[in-house]
Amino acid sequence: MSAGLHRISDLVARGFVEKASAAGLESIVERYALAITPAMADLINPSDPYDPIARQFIPDLRESETRPEELADPIGDGAHSPIEGIVHRYPDRVLLKLLHVCPIYCRFCFRREMVGPGAEQILSPEALDAALDYIRAHSEIWEVILTGGDPLALSPRRLADVLQKLDEIAHVKIVRIHTRVPAVDPARVDERMIEALKSTKKTLYVALHANHPRELGGATEEALAKLAGAGIALVSQTVLLRGVNDDFETLAALMRRFVELRVKPYYLHQADLAPGTSHFRVGLDEARALVGELRSKVSGLCQPTFVLDIPGGFGKVPVGPDHLTGAGVLDHRGETHAYPAPATGKPDF
Ligand SMILES: *Cc1c(COP(=O)(O)O)cnc(C)c1O
Ligand code: SF4
Repeated sequence: MSAGLHRISDLVARGFVEKASAAGLESIVERYALAITPAMADLINPSDPYDPIARQFIPDLRESETRPEELADPIGDGAHSPIEGIVHRYPDRVLLKLLHVCPIYCRFCFRREMVGPGAEQILSPEALDAALDYIRAHSEIWEVILTGGDPLALSPRRLADVLQKLDEIAHVKIVRIHTRVPAVDPARVDERMIEALKSTKKTLYVALHANHPRELGGATEEALAKLAGAGIALVSQTVLLRGVNDDFETLAALMRRFVELRVKPYYLHQADLAPGTSHFRVGLDEARALVGELRSKVSGLCQPTFVLDIPGGFGKVPVGPDHLTGAGVLDHRGETHAYPAPATGKPDF
Protein backbone atom coordinates (compact mmCIF):
# COMPACT_ATOMS: atom_id res chain seq x y z
CA MET A 1 0.00 0.00 0.00
CA SER A 2 1.17 3.52 -0.79
CA ALA A 3 1.67 6.41 1.61
CA GLY A 4 -0.92 9.11 2.26
CA LEU A 5 -0.78 12.18 0.04
CA HIS A 6 -0.56 15.64 1.61
CA ARG A 7 1.19 17.88 -0.92
CA ILE A 8 0.59 18.88 -4.51
CA SER A 9 4.05 17.48 -5.30
CA ASP A 10 2.82 14.07 -4.04
CA LEU A 11 -0.06 14.29 -6.50
CA VAL A 12 2.24 15.24 -9.37
CA ALA A 13 4.54 12.32 -8.50
CA ARG A 14 1.61 9.90 -8.66
CA GLY A 15 0.43 11.33 -11.98
CA PHE A 16 -2.82 12.59 -10.43
CA VAL A 17 -2.31 16.21 -11.47
CA GLU A 18 -0.36 17.82 -14.28
CA LYS A 19 2.77 19.77 -13.45
CA ALA A 20 1.31 22.76 -15.29
CA SER A 21 -1.58 23.10 -12.81
CA ALA A 22 0.60 22.58 -9.72
CA ALA A 23 1.14 26.28 -8.97
CA GLY A 24 -2.57 27.11 -9.22
CA LEU A 25 -3.50 24.15 -7.04
CA GLU A 26 -0.97 25.18 -4.39
CA SER A 27 -2.99 28.31 -3.64
CA ILE A 28 -6.18 26.24 -3.42
CA VAL A 29 -4.77 23.80 -0.87
CA GLU A 30 -3.45 26.70 1.20
CA ARG A 31 -7.11 27.59 1.69
CA TYR A 32 -8.80 24.16 1.68
CA ALA A 33 -6.84 21.33 3.26
CA LEU A 34 -5.44 18.43 1.23
CA ALA A 35 -5.05 14.84 2.41
CA ILE A 36 -5.72 11.59 0.61
CA THR A 37 -5.48 8.28 2.46
CA PRO A 38 -3.46 5.39 0.98
CA ALA A 39 -6.64 3.34 0.52
CA MET A 40 -8.27 6.04 -1.62
CA ALA A 41 -5.05 6.96 -3.48
CA ASP A 42 -4.76 3.33 -4.53
CA LEU A 43 -8.27 3.42 -6.00
CA ILE A 44 -7.57 6.37 -8.28
CA ASN A 45 -6.91 5.60 -11.92
CA PRO A 46 -4.72 8.48 -13.14
CA SER A 47 -5.47 7.77 -16.78
CA ASP A 48 -9.22 8.22 -16.32
CA PRO A 49 -10.10 11.93 -16.44
CA TYR A 50 -13.58 11.13 -15.06
CA ASP A 51 -12.45 8.94 -12.17
CA PRO A 52 -15.13 9.35 -9.45
CA ILE A 53 -12.65 8.83 -6.62
CA ALA A 54 -10.17 11.38 -7.99
CA ARG A 55 -12.99 13.87 -8.44
CA GLN A 56 -13.87 13.72 -4.74
CA PHE A 57 -10.36 14.19 -3.38
CA ILE A 58 -7.99 15.71 -5.98
CA PRO A 59 -8.01 19.54 -5.82
CA ASP A 60 -9.48 21.28 -8.86
CA LEU A 61 -8.73 24.77 -10.18
CA ARG A 62 -12.49 25.47 -10.20
CA GLU A 63 -12.40 25.58 -6.39
CA SER A 64 -10.94 29.10 -6.65
CA GLU A 65 -14.28 30.33 -7.97
CA THR A 66 -16.57 31.27 -5.06
CA ARG A 67 -20.06 32.05 -6.28
CA PRO A 68 -22.22 34.79 -4.71
CA GLU A 69 -24.71 32.25 -3.28
CA GLU A 70 -21.96 30.23 -1.59
CA LEU A 71 -21.45 30.58 2.16
CA ALA A 72 -18.51 29.97 4.51
CA ASP A 73 -20.93 28.31 6.98
CA PRO A 74 -23.50 26.91 4.52
CA ILE A 75 -25.79 25.17 7.02
CA GLY A 76 -25.50 27.81 9.74
CA ASP A 77 -23.75 25.76 12.42
CA GLY A 78 -22.46 29.00 13.93
CA ALA A 79 -25.95 30.40 14.47
CA HIS A 80 -26.88 27.40 16.63
CA SER A 81 -23.69 26.95 18.61
CA PRO A 82 -24.35 27.91 22.26
CA ILE A 83 -20.83 26.90 23.32
CA GLU A 84 -17.63 25.71 21.65
CA GLY A 85 -17.98 22.19 20.21
CA ILE A 86 -21.80 22.03 20.45
CA VAL A 87 -24.38 22.69 17.71
CA HIS A 88 -27.93 22.54 19.07
CA ARG A 89 -30.36 23.13 16.23
CA TYR A 90 -33.04 20.50 16.91
CA PRO A 91 -34.52 20.02 20.39
CA ASP A 92 -33.66 16.36 21.08
CA ARG A 93 -30.14 16.10 19.68
CA VAL A 94 -26.84 17.95 19.52
CA LEU A 95 -23.70 17.74 17.47
CA LEU A 96 -20.54 17.36 19.55
CA LYS A 97 -17.60 18.39 17.38
CA LEU A 98 -14.58 16.75 18.96
CA LEU A 99 -11.99 17.73 16.35
CA HIS A 100 -11.47 19.61 13.10
CA VAL A 101 -9.33 16.96 11.46
CA CYS A 102 -10.19 14.28 8.88
CA PRO A 103 -7.95 11.52 7.49
CA ILE A 104 -9.00 12.68 4.04
CA TYR A 105 -10.38 16.00 2.84
CA CYS A 106 -13.33 15.96 0.45
CA ARG A 107 -13.24 18.74 -2.12
CA PHE A 108 -16.99 19.33 -1.69
CA CYS A 109 -16.90 19.43 2.13
CA PHE A 110 -19.64 21.62 3.68
CA ARG A 111 -17.33 22.44 6.58
CA ARG A 112 -14.30 23.12 4.39
CA GLU A 113 -13.76 26.54 5.98
CA MET A 114 -13.61 24.86 9.40
CA VAL A 115 -11.75 21.56 8.89
CA GLY A 116 -8.05 21.01 8.27
CA PRO A 117 -4.80 20.51 10.13
CA GLY A 118 -4.91 23.92 11.82
CA ALA A 119 -3.69 24.94 15.26
CA GLU A 120 -6.66 23.88 17.42
CA GLN A 121 -7.28 20.43 16.10
CA ILE A 122 -8.94 18.77 19.05
CA LEU A 123 -11.44 20.21 21.53
CA SER A 124 -9.41 21.08 24.65
CA PRO A 125 -10.17 19.15 27.87
CA GLU A 126 -11.71 22.32 29.35
CA ALA A 127 -13.91 22.90 26.28
CA LEU A 128 -14.95 19.24 26.28
CA ASP A 129 -15.94 19.47 29.95
CA ALA A 130 -17.97 22.62 29.24
CA ALA A 131 -19.67 20.92 26.27
CA LEU A 132 -20.52 17.91 28.45
CA ASP A 133 -21.87 20.27 31.13
CA TYR A 134 -24.14 21.78 28.48
CA ILE A 135 -25.45 18.33 27.54
CA ARG A 136 -25.89 17.43 31.21
CA ALA A 137 -27.84 20.62 31.86
CA HIS A 138 -30.26 20.02 28.95
CA SER A 139 -32.39 17.01 29.80
CA GLU A 140 -34.17 17.23 26.42
CA ILE A 141 -30.98 16.00 24.70
CA TRP A 142 -31.77 12.37 23.87
CA GLU A 143 -29.03 11.88 21.27
CA VAL A 144 -25.44 13.06 20.94
CA ILE A 145 -23.94 13.05 17.45
CA LEU A 146 -20.16 12.94 17.40
CA THR A 147 -18.83 14.73 14.35
CA GLY A 148 -16.11 17.15 13.40
CA GLY A 149 -13.92 16.52 11.51
CA ASP A 150 -14.01 12.76 11.72
CA PRO A 151 -14.40 11.31 15.24
CA LEU A 152 -12.77 8.03 14.18
CA ALA A 153 -9.60 9.99 13.47
CA LEU A 154 -9.26 10.20 17.27
CA SER A 155 -7.25 7.56 19.08
CA PRO A 156 -9.34 4.71 20.52
CA ARG A 157 -8.27 5.86 23.99
CA ARG A 158 -9.60 9.38 23.52
CA LEU A 159 -12.79 8.10 21.93
CA ALA A 160 -13.41 5.66 24.81
CA ASP A 161 -12.86 8.51 27.24
CA VAL A 162 -15.56 10.65 25.60
CA LEU A 163 -17.94 7.68 25.41
CA GLN A 164 -17.42 6.97 29.09
CA LYS A 165 -18.21 10.58 29.98
CA LEU A 166 -21.40 10.38 27.93
CA ASP A 167 -22.31 7.14 29.74
CA GLU A 168 -22.60 9.20 32.92
CA ILE A 169 -25.40 11.38 31.49
CA ALA A 170 -28.60 9.40 32.06
CA HIS A 171 -30.92 11.30 29.68
CA VAL A 172 -28.63 10.63 26.69
CA LYS A 173 -29.84 7.35 25.22
CA ILE A 174 -28.26 7.34 21.76
CA VAL A 175 -24.73 8.13 20.58
CA ARG A 176 -24.29 8.50 16.85
CA ILE A 177 -20.89 8.79 15.17
CA HIS A 178 -20.68 10.39 11.73
CA THR A 179 -17.60 9.09 9.96
CA ARG A 180 -15.96 8.46 6.64
CA VAL A 181 -13.21 6.26 8.13
CA PRO A 182 -14.56 2.75 7.37
CA ALA A 183 -14.64 3.73 3.68
CA VAL A 184 -11.55 5.91 3.30
CA ASP A 185 -9.19 4.48 5.93
CA PRO A 186 -10.58 1.06 6.88
CA ALA A 187 -7.33 -0.01 8.60
CA ARG A 188 -8.20 2.39 11.45
CA VAL A 189 -11.12 0.13 12.35
CA ASP A 190 -8.89 -2.31 14.22
CA GLU A 191 -9.51 -4.32 17.40
CA ARG A 192 -8.62 -1.38 19.64
CA MET A 193 -11.11 0.86 17.87
CA ILE A 194 -13.81 -1.82 18.10
CA GLU A 195 -13.10 -2.27 21.82
CA ALA A 196 -13.37 1.49 22.35
CA LEU A 197 -16.70 1.63 20.53
CA LYS A 198 -18.04 -1.40 22.36
CA SER A 199 -17.20 0.19 25.72
CA THR A 200 -20.21 2.53 25.60
CA LYS A 201 -23.31 1.67 27.61
CA LYS A 202 -25.46 3.72 25.22
CA THR A 203 -27.04 2.50 22.01
CA LEU A 204 -24.48 3.27 19.32
CA TYR A 205 -25.16 4.16 15.70
CA VAL A 206 -22.44 4.72 13.13
CA ALA A 207 -23.43 6.83 10.12
CA LEU A 208 -21.02 6.02 7.31
CA HIS A 209 -20.38 8.69 4.69
CA ALA A 210 -19.61 7.14 1.27
CA ASN A 211 -20.45 8.35 -2.22
CA HIS A 212 -19.39 5.70 -4.71
CA PRO A 213 -19.61 1.88 -4.67
CA ARG A 214 -15.86 1.68 -5.31
CA GLU A 215 -15.32 3.13 -1.81
CA LEU A 216 -16.90 -0.04 -0.41
CA GLY A 217 -14.29 -2.65 -1.36
CA GLY A 218 -12.82 -5.60 0.52
CA ALA A 219 -11.10 -3.81 3.41
CA THR A 220 -14.20 -1.67 3.99
CA GLU A 221 -16.34 -4.79 3.91
CA GLU A 222 -14.20 -6.21 6.72
CA ALA A 223 -14.34 -2.99 8.74
CA LEU A 224 -18.13 -2.85 8.45
CA ALA A 225 -18.45 -6.53 9.37
CA LYS A 226 -16.46 -5.82 12.55
CA LEU A 227 -18.70 -2.87 13.42
CA ALA A 228 -21.91 -4.77 12.71
CA GLY A 229 -20.51 -7.79 14.57
CA ALA A 230 -19.92 -5.57 17.60
CA GLY A 231 -23.65 -4.81 17.73
CA ILE A 232 -23.37 -1.31 16.30
CA ALA A 233 -26.24 -0.19 14.10
CA LEU A 234 -25.03 1.14 10.74
CA VAL A 235 -26.66 3.77 8.53
CA SER A 236 -25.34 5.62 5.49
CA GLN A 237 -24.98 9.18 4.29
CA THR A 238 -24.22 10.13 0.70
CA VAL A 239 -23.78 13.50 -0.96
CA LEU A 240 -25.24 13.71 -4.46
CA LEU A 241 -22.26 14.85 -6.56
CA ARG A 242 -21.96 15.77 -10.23
CA GLY A 243 -19.60 13.35 -11.96
CA VAL A 244 -19.43 11.00 -8.97
CA ASN A 245 -22.85 9.46 -8.38
CA ASP A 246 -25.34 11.56 -10.38
CA ASP A 247 -26.55 8.68 -12.55
CA PHE A 248 -29.07 5.97 -11.76
CA GLU A 249 -26.72 2.99 -12.16
CA THR A 250 -24.10 4.34 -9.76
CA LEU A 251 -26.62 5.46 -7.19
CA ALA A 252 -28.47 2.11 -7.29
CA ALA A 253 -25.20 0.16 -7.06
CA LEU A 254 -24.09 2.28 -4.07
CA MET A 255 -27.36 1.83 -2.17
CA ARG A 256 -27.44 -1.90 -2.86
CA ARG A 257 -23.85 -2.24 -1.74
CA PHE A 258 -24.67 -0.46 1.55
CA VAL A 259 -27.56 -2.85 2.17
CA GLU A 260 -25.40 -5.88 1.32
CA LEU A 261 -22.94 -4.66 3.97
CA ARG A 262 -25.73 -4.23 6.57
CA VAL A 263 -25.66 -0.43 6.28
CA LYS A 264 -29.19 0.98 6.03
CA PRO A 265 -29.32 3.91 3.57
CA TYR A 266 -30.30 6.94 5.63
CA TYR A 267 -29.68 10.23 3.85
CA LEU A 268 -28.87 11.35 0.34
CA HIS A 269 -27.83 14.98 0.68
CA GLN A 270 -28.23 17.76 -1.81
CA ALA A 271 -24.71 19.26 -1.86
CA ASP A 272 -24.49 22.33 0.37
CA LEU A 273 -23.50 25.79 -0.87
CA ALA A 274 -19.90 25.46 0.30
CA PRO A 275 -17.44 27.89 -1.31
CA GLY A 276 -15.82 26.78 -4.56
CA THR A 277 -18.01 23.69 -5.00
CA SER A 278 -20.53 24.69 -7.68
CA HIS A 279 -19.05 22.17 -10.14
CA PHE A 280 -20.29 19.42 -7.81
CA ARG A 281 -23.90 20.48 -7.48
CA VAL A 282 -26.78 18.81 -9.30
CA GLY A 283 -29.98 20.82 -9.92
CA LEU A 284 -32.93 19.91 -7.70
CA ASP A 285 -35.21 18.89 -10.59
CA GLU A 286 -32.62 16.48 -11.96
CA ALA A 287 -31.91 15.18 -8.45
CA ARG A 288 -35.58 14.53 -7.75
CA ALA A 289 -35.94 12.61 -11.00
CA LEU A 290 -32.99 10.41 -10.01
CA VAL A 291 -34.46 9.76 -6.58
CA GLY A 292 -37.81 8.91 -8.20
CA GLU A 293 -36.13 6.40 -10.49
CA LEU A 294 -34.43 4.80 -7.50
CA ARG A 295 -37.80 4.53 -5.72
CA SER A 296 -39.51 2.95 -8.72
CA LYS A 297 -36.86 0.37 -9.61
CA VAL A 298 -34.91 -0.61 -6.48
CA SER A 299 -35.74 -2.41 -3.21
CA GLY A 300 -37.31 -0.34 -0.49
CA LEU A 301 -34.36 -1.20 1.76
CA CYS A 302 -32.13 0.79 -0.63
CA GLN A 303 -34.06 4.08 -0.30
CA PRO A 304 -32.33 6.96 1.49
CA THR A 305 -34.31 10.11 2.27
CA PHE A 306 -33.23 12.87 -0.10
CA VAL A 307 -32.63 15.95 2.06
CA LEU A 308 -31.63 19.56 1.64
CA ASP A 309 -30.10 21.53 4.48
CA ILE A 310 -31.69 24.95 3.99
CA PRO A 311 -28.85 27.48 3.64
CA GLY A 312 -28.42 29.69 6.68
CA GLY A 313 -29.27 27.18 9.44
CA PHE A 314 -32.98 26.51 8.92
CA GLY A 315 -32.58 22.75 9.06
CA LYS A 316 -32.79 19.63 6.94
CA VAL A 317 -35.97 18.98 4.98
CA PRO A 318 -36.88 16.10 2.67
CA VAL A 319 -37.07 17.32 -0.93
CA GLY A 320 -37.66 14.07 -2.83
CA PRO A 321 -40.46 13.67 -5.37
CA ASP A 322 -44.04 14.00 -4.06
CA HIS A 323 -46.56 11.27 -4.76
CA LEU A 324 -49.54 13.08 -3.34
CA THR A 325 -51.06 15.75 -5.56
CA GLY A 326 -54.30 17.71 -5.29
CA ALA A 327 -55.83 15.19 -7.71
CA GLY A 328 -54.78 12.00 -5.88
CA VAL A 329 -51.83 9.64 -5.59
CA LEU A 330 -49.22 9.53 -8.33
CA ASP A 331 -47.80 6.13 -9.31
CA HIS A 332 -44.36 5.49 -10.77
CA ARG A 333 -45.62 5.77 -14.35
CA GLY A 334 -47.03 9.22 -13.65
CA GLU A 335 -50.69 8.17 -13.48
CA THR A 336 -52.91 9.59 -10.78
CA HIS A 337 -55.23 7.42 -8.64
CA ALA A 338 -58.01 8.48 -6.34
CA TYR A 339 -57.70 7.69 -2.65
CA PRO A 340 -60.82 8.18 -0.51
CA ALA A 341 -60.88 10.37 2.57
CA PRO A 342 -61.99 8.56 5.77
CA ALA A 343 -65.77 8.26 6.06
CA THR A 344 -65.81 9.83 9.52
CA GLY A 345 -63.72 12.51 11.19
CA LYS A 346 -62.11 12.28 14.65
CA PRO A 347 -64.63 11.38 17.38
CA ASP A 348 -65.31 14.50 19.45
CA PHE A 349 -65.31 13.01 22.98
C1 LIG B 1 -27.80 17.06 10.40
C2 LIG B 1 -27.85 17.56 11.75
C3 LIG B 1 -28.33 16.77 12.81
C4 LIG B 1 -28.82 15.36 12.58
O1 LIG B 1 -30.04 15.37 11.94
P1 LIG B 1 -30.83 14.00 11.73
O2 LIG B 1 -31.98 14.42 10.85
O3 LIG B 1 -31.28 13.54 13.08
O4 LIG B 1 -29.91 13.04 11.09
C5 LIG B 1 -28.38 17.31 14.06
N1 LIG B 1 -27.96 18.56 14.31
C6 LIG B 1 -27.50 19.35 13.32
C7 LIG B 1 -27.07 20.72 13.66
C8 LIG B 1 -27.42 18.87 12.01
O5 LIG B 1 -26.92 19.65 11.05
S1 SF4 C 1 -14.85 13.59 5.87
FE1 SF4 C 1 -16.65 14.95 6.20
S2 SF4 C 1 -15.89 16.69 7.43
FE2 SF4 C 1 -14.09 15.61 6.57
S3 SF4 C 1 -13.61 16.67 4.65
FE3 SF4 C 1 -14.98 14.96 4.10
S4 SF4 C 1 -17.06 15.85 4.17
FE4 SF4 C 1 -15.69 17.27 5.28
